[in-house]
Amino acid sequence: MRQPTVIVVGGGLAGPLMALFLARRGYAVDLFERRGDLRRETATAGRSINLTLAERGLAALRELGLERDVVDRLGIRLRGRAVHDRAGGVDLIPYGTGEHEVLYAVSRVGLTRYLLDAAERQPGVRLHFHRQCVEVNVDAAAVTVADLRSGVRQQHRADFVVGADGVYSEVRRHLLRGRFADFEQYYVPWRYKELTVAAGSHFDQHALHVWPRGDRMMFAIPNPDGSFNGVCVLPAEGQESFATVRTPGQVRALFERDFADVLAHLPALASEFGRPESAFPTVKTSAWRYRDTVVLLGDACHAVIPFYGQGMNAAFEDCLLLDRHLAAHTDRAEAFAAYERSRRPDTDALAELCERNFTELRDTVRRPAVAARKRVSLTLNRALGERATPLYTMVSHSTIPYTECVRRARRTDRYARLLGVDLAVGALVLAGAGRALLTTLWRGLVSLGRVQTALPPVAPDRPAPAVRVVHLPEEGESDGYRAAA
Ligand SMILES: Cc1cc2nc3c(=O)[nH]c(=O)nc-3n(C[C@H](O)[C@H](O)[C@H](O)COP(=O)(O)OP(=O)(O)OC[C@H]3O[C@@H](n4cnc5c(N)ncnc54)[C@H](O)[C@@H]3O)c2cc1C
Repeated sequence: MRQPTVIVVGGGLAGPLMALFLARRGYAVDLFERRGDLRRETATAGRSINLTLAERGLAALRELGLERDVVDRLGIRLRGRAVHDRAGGVDLIPYGTGEHEVLYAVSRVGLTRYLLDAAERQPGVRLHFHRQCVEVNVDAAAVTVADLRSGVRQQHRADFVVGADGVYSEVRRHLLRGRFADFEQYYVPWRYKELTVAAGSHFDQHALHVWPRGDRMMFAIPNPDGSFNGVCVLPAEGQESFATVRTPGQVRALFERDFADVLAHLPALASEFGRPESAFPTVKTSAWRYRDTVVLLGDACHAVIPFYGQGMNAAFEDCLLLDRHLAAHTDRAEAFAAYERSRRPDTDALAELCERNFTELRDTVRRPAVAARKRVSLTLNRALGERATPLYTMVSHSTIPYTECVRRARRTDRYARLLGVDLAVGALVLAGAGRALLTTLWRGLVSLGRVQTALPPVAPDRPAPAVRVVHLPEEGESDGYRAAA
């Protein structure tokens, strides 16, 4: 019998993982990556050099038997968020109440190398580097690939194509061309620069550090050598923005005032701050697939801003879900449709959650209630168990679909607020009022409750979408296909 074939475009984080899933199902996989092989060539710093791996990502790795190895070899266990105030005080807010409710810091390059190695070891997977996808014939599942060293272009065909080529996906561009599909790409009006926090600081190596300062912030994730990968986030424009803080003197003044306790550990601040800033794109598209020939995953169909640490985790979860849909349907077009139908509402919800979390992170210092509320929700969780699982816990430490996380959190919020302001409840619990009293109160409210409240408004800072493309048919290309809305 002929072996079914797949082309995966993109050898970043999700591409090699999907190649592994597909090879396990018996596909012959050709993966094309436009960069060089990170395992043999020096990595050029691009986006953040480390990331947090949470339950959704771990679950996908677990399915392939890789979780333990990744955690043991690459992971640094993070217990919580260490919030630095201006005076140098640090407040550690745990990520959860249970032992397993932790995140792992991993190097982006290290994890990519690991996955490329694992994919290459898997019979049926072939990796091709310096190969850029420049054209996709979606009807024929054919990809034209340019060899970036020789300039030679070649067309490759397969049974289907997976677009795992990231936020500015070429596969997506061809998928959308001539289709009735919604596409949205926008940027929050903040930018970021990466800064190296040198080894030797006294900062907790098992926490994600945050310096929230209202309209600006810094965060830092530990590396195995004791240094941290720092990210400085400033408004794109306006007073004290990347547009105005330019000279070494201005940079120093900003850090002396806002990030004083980290300043001594930023030996390359002047040169690193001199590099161009990067933006935070969000991408949503209504078309994730075409017939049985093309399907997207990861940032290619749902890029989110990184303030929930979920982009890669969601991309890994896509791989797991797509694999399950392929197993559950004999008709591949149905598998793709079911994947898109079930997954898209969740990643739309994730985009909103990420924007809300960004506001929350920056605001922690302006509104001490934000930090207090976090502690209260953990306390409620400890006292009431699953009935009061905080939103953050569900998003980061479970695989509950994102939309369901929001639904449950709304319910918890509603009752917590009814209970006489959640902060007061926290005080009650802390004062030792007892689990029984609290549970009784809670049950009473649950039975009362048909009260409709909403989570706080999402993304107040979000500008109008910079790009919104609705149905861009090109002559002769529209075949009347309309992506499921
Ligand atoms: C500052 C920052 C911090 C982040 N922190 C976290 C975090 O802590 N936790 C988390 O879960 N997520 C985090 N993310 C998000 C995460 O990086 C992305 O969601 C994740 O990389 C998406 O994986 P992907 O495989 O879809 O895309 P990518 O990792 O971007 O991979 C796409 C690959 O496709 C290749 N490619 C692109 N175009 C072509 C083409 N035409 N032909 C061939 N190859 C092509 C690219 O070279 C790249 O290798 C962060 C993002 C940023 C910017």
